[in-house]
Amino acid sequence: MITETKTVVKAGWNLANSYAQLPQSFFTRLNPNPVSSPKLIILNHPLAKSLGFNFEELKDNDGAAIFAGNEIPEGAVPIAQAYAGHQFGHFTMLGDGRALLLGEQITPKGQRFDIQLKGSGRTPYSRGGDGRAALGPMLREYIISEAMHGFNIPTTRSLAVVTTGETVFREKEEIGAILTRVAASHLRVGTFQYASNWCSVGELKALADYTLKRHFPEIHNDEDRYLSMLEEIIRRQASLIAKWQLVGFIHGVMNTDNMTISGETIDYGPCAFMDSYNPETVFSSIDIYGRYAYGNQPNIAAWNLSRLAEALLPLISDNEELAVKLAKDAISSFDDLYHNNWITGMRAKLGIFNTEIEDEALIGKLLSIMETYGADYTNTFRALALNKLEDMMIFDTEEFVKWHEMWQARLERQKEPKESSYELMKSSNPAIIPRNHRVEEALEAAVNGDYSVMEKLNDALSNPFEYSAKQDEYAKLPKKRNCAYRTFCGT
Ligand code: AMP
Ligand code: MG
Repeated sequence: MITETKTVVKAGWNLANSYAQLPQSFFTRLNPNPVSSPKLIILNHPLAKSLGFNFEELKDNDGAAIFAGNEIPEGAVPIAQAYAGHQFGHFTMLGDGRALLLGEQITPKGQRFDIQLKGSGRTPYSRGGDGRAALGPMLREYIISEAMHGFNIPTTRSLAVVTTGETVFREKEEIGAILTRVAASHLRVGTFQYASNWCSVGELKALADYTLKRHFPEIHNDEDRYLSMLEEIIRRQASLIAKWQLVGFIHGVMNTDNMTISGETIDYGPCAFMDSYNPETVFSSIDIYGRYAYGNQPNIAAWNLSRLAEALLPLISDNEELAVKLAKDAISSFDDLYHNNWITGMRAKLGIFNTEIEDEALIGKLLSIMETYGADYTNTFRALALNKLEDMMIFDTEEFVKWHEMWQARLERQKEPKESSYELMKSSNPAIIPRNHRVEEALEAAVNGDYSVMEKLNDALSNPFEYSAKQDEYAKLPKKRNCAYRTFCGT
């Protein structure tokens, strides 16, 4: 049943509903469940502006009511999207169990972005869940997704967080909240798995054609368009995962439902940034086998893309054998694509402009010294970029001193002056990341009603390549190293 909700005009809403025109099996039409007492906690000014919203009007009470799902903006056709997914390797039916897509905001520049409420109540896909979200995890998604945007890493973004005036029960009673998420789309690998397993080939084709039009218009009319689409998704993911690795981001739950078709990072649950360099780093408390460990992320991405390729087989060719061969060839390109992105990024992190075969060994050596001495990943590169090799044990080791000589000699073998190398390094290595203890500190203050700590953190993270003195405090490690840091999925 669709609940009655007031429609609100103004504030710059300009919604289209192309997804709701797909075959019915891809979604369920329903309105959000109103909440008792919506209060706007945070609103993203620059993002609101780029989407064509009037910030002041969004900030007033109607804004809070809309972001809480109590009122519906003009033009919205709220839907819960259907999708499936491999969760830790096990395939299952999922869908938006606690989220609703209001529609697609068409920006003044003509771009199209999904506007989704996360935590808006139960849906037919909720299974046993309450359809709700807690304030801490929603603010966590806000902080980390906006930090990722600051690093120039493709990501869904966060427009607003409201509290609902209601409590949710997780391990204990928590403050209820709703996040407004903005995405190029919410099409996932799992959306195609759903179509492939539970829909007709005609419906699968409708989904693929929709995706082509929305994300890959340049290949929309190609004869081999479904294969080209797969290849392009592989390219985007290879680029995305390399960016994660370069900045030390660990997603935590790379299930196929948490991998987008657009190439944006999505679903910030138990994610975190690596501190000491160690490829085996896992943060998620439920990832006991290290399936989604830092060093395993490229492998898992390729595994997920293979599941996508399987779903697309009937569209790639009528000849099954040929379809499998073409899909396999496409998937096998992932490793090289990923590696090229990664090494290009690593060269930039080290101020290297041209290419030499030995670069890979030079990079590998530095990483291995970092691993041996448990050096902080971000701060090692930060110190190199600042040319201030102090306050870290690694810099006093014989291995590092030898490596440093090799690296300096390498920089001298290119035509660009050293100053250019240091400039390149500063624009390729963030001076600060959302350090786990800083994020936790901001969230703890926020759930106790003080949002200033989070606002200051967000402000610092909005310009991570600034290399200013005001960033210094955010570059510091916690006094007691929290090696056993764990993030939880109970979001
Ligand atoms: P996630 O772990 O956030 O990727 O979610 C996996 C699946 O569980 C998705 O289908 C979500 O919609 C669903 N889900 C997560 N939390 C809840 C909740 N509190 N209530 C209902 N469904 C949920
Ligand atoms: Mg998810």
